[in-house]
Formats: sequence, structure tokens, C-alpha cells
Amino acid sequence: MRKNIVAGNWKMNTTVSEGVALAKEVSEAVKAANPKCEVVICTPFTHLCPVAGVIDTAVLGLGAENCADHEKGAYTGEVSAAMVASTGATHVILGHSERRQYYGETSETLREKVALALANGLTPIFCIGEVLAERENGTFNEVVAKQVEEGLFNLSAEDFGKIVLAYEPVWAIGTGKTATAEQAEDMHAWIRSVIAGKYGKEVAENTSILYGGSCKPSNAAELFAKPDVDGGLIGGAALKCADFMGIVNAF
Ligand code: PEP
Repeated sequence: MRKNIVAGNWKMNTTVSEGVALAKEVSEAVKAANPKCEVVICTPFTHLCPVAGVIDTAVLGLGAENCADHEKGAYTGEVSAAMVASTGATHVILGHSERRQYYGETSETLREKVALALANGLTPIFCIGEVLAERENGTFNEVVAKQVEEGLFNLSAEDFGKIVLAYEPVWAIGTGKTATAEQAEDMHAWIRSVIAGKYGKEVAENTSILYGGSCKPSNAAELFAKPDVDGGLIGGAALKCADFMGIVNAF
């Protein structure tokens, strides 16, 4: 079944002690709020173990922001999906635009990462989205469809059903420029139609598609009210408990 989800992406922010304090605060706030959506925080690798020890995993999911495209071995500096899972994490963000843009991640490497995440029982939060030039030249639907097709359409319908998608227009990430609720809804409906074309309507209807890009307490309710927007992937606003909870409580 399709779920409403609000997931925080902490990116490369907070020291371990700051992150543990924030995670504890968020866990307690989520417990008190009893929200109408699933809530997840995705933290740097270094934070996963200590954060897993202080949050209530019955109310708050934990995820990494990336994992390696190899199972194990001589890949200095990499962190495998099995290592992520062994911390107690349940989710992993894959294909974030910052990884695609700054670290050259391609659909090919992402297919490996998705397969390894699934094999280790992690839920991939798979990010897609167009850059500003593609929004302006009108190719955004094709660009996003291609990212979904190339990154995920090798999966069986059963495995595809384990994926959470996050549509994040790159021009809206960290810029303060949010897609309008109508732009988000149009794209989410388009993504759902692309999924339906491959896996059928039932799988498409059951896929959670989150919106990401300068989502904040003041615009979350309007975005989440759209029928094809199933929640948010939250960057900057996930770093302050009150802001993050303002978004969680928009459901
Ligand atoms: C993100 O990086 O996933 C994101 C949505 O960032 P922000 O909310 O800061 O735009």
C-alpha cells in the first residue's frame, strides 16, 4: 500500500553529538505528535549507529544518504548496503541530485546500488529530477521518465514495489525556490503514468512518490494535499526539529 512519508535528508551537516541530540529531539517530538505519516531521518554514515541507539524505531525510521555499488572488498572509503543495514537503518537515499552532479553517479551505478540495498532489506528512496535548463526547455517529463526507466525498470514488479521515489527538481533544492503544488502534482501524476506503463496501474497506485525541494512548514500542506504527492524529502528544514515537525504535521 502507498504510504505518506516525510523523510529528512541531513546531508553533510552536524557532528555526531549534534546529530544524536537532534535525532533524540525528533524521536520524542514524533512520539508525542502521533503523525499521520511515516517519518524517517537520513543521516551521515558516522551518525547511524549512535542515532539508532537513541531513537524509538517504532515511530521513527533511520536511513543513510548513500551506499556503495559493490558488495564488499577493496573499495577504500566506501560503505556497503550490508554495513548500513547492520547499524539498524531501514532506508537509504539513492541517486540524490548532489550525488549525480558532484560524484558522477549514473543510472548504471544506481542500478547496482538499488539491487544491493534491496538485497540487504533496505528501502531505497530513489531520487529523480530535472535541472533548470530542462525545466525551461520543456524536456523535464522525458528527463525524469528516463531516470526512472534507466534506474529502476530492470526490477521485478515485486522489487519495484519496495521502492520509494522522490521527485526533486534540482532547481528547487536548497534554493528557496519551491515547485508550485501544481508543478509537483503534474510531475508526480506523470511519473505514476510511466510506472503504470511498465508495471500496471496497481503497482503505480501503490508507489509512494515524495516531493523534495525547499519544502518547509509554510508550503508543505499545499503540496501534500495534491493527490499524487505522498510526502516529502526534506533537506534544510530537517535540521531544525520544529521546522521538520511543522512539515510532518502538515499531514
Ligand atoms: C534535498 O536535498 O533532498 C532537499 C530537498 O533539500 P532542501 O529541502 O534543502 O531543498
